[in-house]
Amino acid sequence: MQYSHLQDLNQAQLRAVEHDPNIPLQILAGPGSGKTKVLTTRIAHLISQRSIEPSSICAVTFTNKAANEMRERLSKLIGMETTSLIRMGTFHALCAMFLRRHANLVKLNGNFTVCDSDESKKIVSKLLKAHRVKLATKAITLREEAVLSLISKAKSKGHSPDDVLDMLEDPSKRRKAQKKADIGSISALIDQTIATLYRDYERTLRDNNSLDFDDLLIYGVRLFRDHRKVGKWCKHILVDEFQDTNTMQYELMQHIAAANRCVTIVGDPDQSIYGWRSAEVENLQRMRQDFPSTIQILLEHNYRSTGSILAASVAIVAQDKSRIPKTLHTQHAIGPNPTLQAFPSEYEEATFIATEIKRLLAATGDMLKWSDFAVLLRYNSLSRAIESALQQQGIPNRVLGGHKFFERSEVKDILAYMQVIDNPQFIPAFSRAVNTPSRGIGEKTISEMLTRAATLNLSPLEVAERIYDEQMPDIKPPVRRKLKSFIEPIKNLRKLANNGELPSNLIRTLLDLIHYENHLKKTQPDADSRWDNVQELINFAREFEVNESSNLQLPESPLPGERVAGENDWEDHPDEFDHNAFDEDGIAEIKPGANSKLASHRDTPLRLFLQASMLSTDVQTQDSRADNNVTITTCHAAKGLEWPVVFVPAVEKGTFPSSRAEDVEEERRLLYVACTRAQGLLYLSHSTGRMVSGETKPQEISEFIWVVKRSTPGLFSATPPNLSREDRTLLASVLHRDAPDEAKVSQRLEEHYRTAGQTSWSSRPGGSTNRYRQPPSNLYFGSRTRHQPHA
Ligand code: ATP
Ligand code: MG
Repeated sequence: MQYSHLQDLNQAQLRAVEHDPNIPLQILAGPGSGKTKVLTTRIAHLISQRSIEPSSICAVTFTNKAANEMRERLSKLIGMETTSLIRMGTFHALCAMFLRRHANLVKLNGNFTVCDSDESKKIVSKLLKAHRVKLATKAITLREEAVLSLISKAKSKGHSPDDVLDMLEDPSKRRKAQKKADIGSISALIDQTIATLYRDYERTLRDNNSLDFDDLLIYGVRLFRDHRKVGKWCKHILVDEFQDTNTMQYELMQHIAAANRCVTIVGDPDQSIYGWRSAEVENLQRMRQDFPSTIQILLEHNYRSTGSILAASVAIVAQDKSRIPKTLHTQHAIGPNPTLQAFPSEYEEATFIATEIKRLLAATGDMLKWSDFAVLLRYNSLSRAIESALQQQGIPNRVLGGHKFFERSEVKDILAYMQVIDNPQFIPAFSRAVNTPSRGIGEKTISEMLTRAATLNLSPLEVAERIYDEQMPDIKPPVRRKLKSFIEPIKNLRKLANNGELPSNLIRTLLDLIHYENHLKKTQPDADSRWDNVQELINFAREFEVNESSNLQLPESPLPGERVAGENDWEDHPDEFDHNAFDEDGIAEIKPGANSKLASHRDTPLRLFLQASMLSTDVQTQDSRADNNVTITTCHAAKGLEWPVVFVPAVEKGTFPSSRAEDVEEERRLLYVACTRAQGLLYLSHSTGRMVSGETKPQEISEFIWVVKRSTPGLFSATPPNLSREDRTLLASVLHRDAPDEAKVSQRLEEHYRTAGQTSWSSRPGGSTNRYRQPPSNLYFGSRTRHQPHA
């Protein structure tokens, strides 16, 4: 690594990067203080200065998107080839990777399918139907999400279905569990039912040879806890966003680190926002107990935001009286105050955001791009008004993690085929693909095939094949004929997949074989946009193939310390081989027999692709920055990211905090996370009326903001910043960009107001006058500059 990479680090950051790899390290610091940067640089440093094998490093990120960003940053520091050897991804992705390779150690089948939340919901929905009679007597309805959330809570706390049933039988254990909200607490009947549903749900997953997200962690913990040898292959573990790890993830980290104690975590208790998903900020403390030699390094400089954004953000989070105060200085000037504005309705609010984005673009002479703007929402459902306002004004935008890409029906159709090819036992995929496009194979026939599969101990695909091959003569000929257009493509594709064909090509071939575009055109009014999504899936596959090219090209991707034995190895180096070691625990080291064993663990590109797509359900495949779109996303999904300009609308009671939230302080921290994403300009807004369940209801400003506004009135500005030349220069310096050309600024502004006057406001819903119609008098126009000091 060139030393220039260390040069821009401050003293504390440098100390963290160069810290002895054998002593556990906690880096605790506020937003924008360079935690992720330090983690990334530390990995590069371990490899280039400490000669640590890249493949023995495990870097854990919170989302797949964050892993991609880290990969990109690392590629710049140490090159793509070395970066591709590092085990990088979410806890779930890392577990999936190790479990495939060592499935036999935890009694799993290595070709398991990862079951996403949508599939899980379907399983629970079927089970609920089966239990309906019992529940109906008490007139109780259980929602799938609620059941799944309780199951997931029990799983993530490590309680098996049997544990839960035990708890229910033992009143003292039961009270304890209820107190901790481990599993239902409404009534004994519900508790009992959920425990039974949990048991049946688990059974269904196993029958389908699939693991849900919680299972990945549960089996991962088992693997690393019971087979220390596997842990030796992750000599160094580094975890970003540690404050949001749950018990299972903590234990996983602990077991991986147990062998070598080379562990680095970074986190910020003020940004813990996943308590609702069982994250435990106490894990920071737990780590210091479990690894008593842990050293803490604090970072106190914020490099992301202007002084006024930081001041307002800290004022919000500081209202939490239980919080430990922290020092955080900004490296940048004060800059314009964040804006706090009220609008009569969500439409006015959304229109303002769209107009303001355009004004800012013009007022900075195009120094800013669309992708420099983000609108951060408490819920996805708030995006509708914003999306339509941006569309009306021709602003390209993308909803990140909105209607989840991988949950779209056309994407699910294609993935179902790919899953059947990879894991013919996976019933949800079979049931979907067998009659898509419609082949006239009805529910009854599908159910008959599934029953036969269960009785004959075959996969559903094998049953379908036998019917097609006339080995089940009692099934009527029309069914056999109907199956032709399913079985034939699957046969072709399985052959291709087993020969290592790339997923993007498999998808293209599939689309041709089943005439999928025609099917969409015949059945869907929005066929074009659905077809675009299918193309997007191919793009995702291509992106995956490029990112994973080194793994996909290698005949095997050996783990550190593991060598894939070639045929000549045995003859060339007979002494290096240990026949017994291999079978002892299923782990292949340097042994001739490893070749055949490893081959059975070998992941086809298709399997790796399916895994990546199943684990990507919480993020959008597209990076809106690369596409130059305004990003619309939730505050949760914005974690760890930054944008030059951030809008946080709907800062209202019932939204911040959410009326559904259990922990008000967590909601306050969420608003803090949202505000601290902004680098140069921050806009908070609320609407005095908002459409809720079809009715416009009065809304009040969020208490989180109201309290701050009352106690420190000067923190917010009631009007948008005038963007004086001084502001523009500051913005450029925060963003490390060249200050805009002033002649261009005035030209763009004049153009903007000319067109804004003609188009934007004529299409504004229900209004003809607006105070933003004319440029504020203090705006800069050529030589008529009026610099105004900021409040
Ligand atoms: P968060 O808590 O939001 O995840 P973080 O602490 O991980 O924030 P980073 O994302 O690593 O912060 O860094 C924030 C910004 O500050 C990035 O743009 C990064 O490049 C920049 N930065 C960090 N340290 C320095 C430094 N020493 N010099 C210049 N820029 C820096
Ligand atoms: Mg970070």
